[in-house]
This record gives sequence, structure tokens and C-alpha cells, in this order.
Amino acid sequence: MNITGARKAVYTAEAYVSGKSMDDVKKEYNLTKVIKLGSNENPYSPFPNAIKAMTEELSAIGIYPEINFIKLRETLGKKFNLTSEYIGLGHGAGGVLETISRLFIESGDEVIVPTQSYRLYREISKIMGGVVREVSLDENYTISVENIIKTINAKTKIVWLCNPNNPTGTIIKKEDIDSILDVLPESGWLVLDEAYVEFSNTCEVPDVVKYIKNNKHLLSVRTFSKYYGLAGARLGYVIAAPNVINGFDTVSEPFNANRIALAGGIQCLTSDKENVEKASKLLIEERERVSNELEKLNCEVTKSHSNFIFYKVPCDGEELGTYMLKRGVIVRPCSGWGYSNHIRVTVGMREEMDEFLKVTKDGLEALKD
Ligand SMILES: *Cc1c(COP(=O)(O)O)cnc(C)c1O
Repeated sequence: MNITGARKAVYTAEAYVSGKSMDDVKKEYNLTKVIKLGSNENPYSPFPNAIKAMTEELSAIGIYPEINFIKLRETLGKKFNLTSEYIGLGHGAGGVLETISRLFIESGDEVIVPTQSYRLYREISKIMGGVVREVSLDENYTISVENIIKTINAKTKIVWLCNPNNPTGTIIKKEDIDSILDVLPESGWLVLDEAYVEFSNTCEVPDVVKYIKNNKHLLSVRTFSKYYGLAGARLGYVIAAPNVINGFDTVSEPFNANRIALAGGIQCLTSDKENVEKASKLLIEERERVSNELEKLNCEVTKSHSNFIFYKVPCDGEELGTYMLKRGVIVRPCSGWGYSNHIRVTVGMREEMDEFLKVTKDGLEALKD
């Protein structure tokens, strides 16, 4: 890459690598049917009332989305017993994370990111001139709070944490959040990316609202892409103290969510609430079933708190991934995170997962020795 005049920091960043698309795989392997379990999307989406509202909204596409922008913030506020002043919106959690980096990171500030986690934190921090300190996970594939605390110093501006963690599906305990907040410097912030938190057990994950109301330096980032099934609509939000949201809105572009997404998002939280909950219940049941089945196939499964499963296979993960692609099943081999024997699979519908298990079994057989 060489662009005349581009900022130096741009050259330090790496482009995002997404999961394979269905069209790519169909074309490459000459397949008519493909099961996509590589990007943690919701197989039950779109939900009926959301799609109806989004379709109707099309006719108003020529007008800025002021009313629903306010309405979604209010609806989200109500969900957490907060006012809309605590909610900021963005183009997906990705857009929200980027705006947060613009709000806080000054050139030379240090940020801490777990190495085996969502990559975007590292890249958006580098682009702002931040110095990235990576910390590895512990041997149970959990974010190591001990390593994070050791790395925090007076220059630490942001600790980026993913809870549950992508790609491992593990969670950090409330006590660990407390310990990190205790040692953060005065100008430091903990950003919790909770893209999958709706699939976790509420008693096991921290109550972010409580921290925020108690003026702790914490922001929670959420998305409509996973649990609510609106990945293609690009809608995310942040929960934080009103002064932080004020700053967030100031550095963000105006109307940083589109009319169609806003209309769908509101229905997901209201008229589709039960449909969304039903889908999640099925996915969680399926997650537990598939985890058990994978263990029967001699895979080492890490207990998942999200809508995907991270497991170790008794062969090379990339090789098994390629075998599965040829059979029309897209999964995410984890060698890019340094786990060459691990795969991450999104939990889909029962029939999809039966096919996934069948192909896994055949692949393990074919790749023996
Ligand atoms: C999918 C994902 C996101 C991105 O969500 P969008 O709202 O689609 O931008 C953010 N964080 C993590 C950990 C994710 O897995």
C-alpha cells in the first residue's frame, strides 16, 4: 500500500479479515448449498416485525432519520432503566468502537488489548497513534486479568476487553472488572465490548449499568448484529455516563445510524422482543447440544457463553476447515489467533448443526494421522 499524502499511522494498520462469504465458497468449490457458520450471525433473522418496519421505512429514505434516532436511544435507555442521555449510537459496534478511539486516544497513549481477541481494537488504536500493548490469554483461553494489571501504567488510556471473548467464548468475572478499575490511572478507561453478552447468563457477567451509575470509568459497547440478527443493517450502541456520550456524539458524524437500521432496531426491542428471545433460547440449547457432540468426537470444547463454540480438534484446524469448505460448511479456523488446532463455529439451526457435525466427523476421519 502506498498512497501519496496518507497519514503514517495508516501504514501500521492491518485490514480486517472477515469470514468467507457464501457466494465466494459456492463459486470456488462449485456448490449449490452452503451453510455459513463463520461470522456469528443469527440464523433466525430477520425477525418479522423488524423486516416489516424496515420495508415500510424505505419510502422515507430521502429524509434524515431524526425521530427514530431519538426513539431508539429512549427505547434502549428504558431497557437499562436509564435515560437516553446514557446511550450513543453508531454504525455497528465497529463504528462505535472507532468513535470511542477518536474520543480518547491521543498520540503516544498506551492501550491494552488481549492478543487472542477481536482485532479491531488494535487497528483503530494504532490509527489514532496509540501504542498497543498486547497481553496473552491464560491457559484456559480466558482473558488474563493478571497480565492486564501487570501491563497497566500511568500512560494507559484504554483497556479494550471483549466479554464474552471472541474467538474463545469465555467470560471474565465481576471481581476481575473491579480489580482492573481499581488500578487504572485517573484518565484511563475500560471499554467492554459486549457484542455477545445477551447469550450469557446474566448472573455471570458484570452489571455494567451499576458501574456506570457509580461513575466508574467504564463504557459498554453493544450491537444489533448478533442477538438481534441485524448484521447487515450496521447498528450498534454504547452505554456510558452522559458526559461521555456527549463527547462521543461530538466526535461522531451526525446521524451515525441509518433510517432502515433504526426502524428495525426499535422493533427488535419491542414488538419482536419475544421472537428474539425464542431464537436465543433455541441457539443456547443448540450450543450445549453441539458442545457435547463435539466432545464425543474427541474435540476439546471450551465452555461457551456466546453464540459460537471454540474447540480444539485432533488435527490441523486449517486443514479441517478447508475439508469442510469443500463440503459446503463454512467455519472459522483460528490459526490467525495463534491457535492452529482450534476452530470457531457459529451456532446455527439444528439441521445446519447436524450437517456440521456430520462433516466434522467425516473430516476427522479423512485427516487421521
Ligand atoms: C461481531 C463483533 C463486533 C462487530 O459488530 P458490528 O456491530 O457488526 O460492527 C464487535 N465486537 C465483537 C467482539 C464482535 O464479534
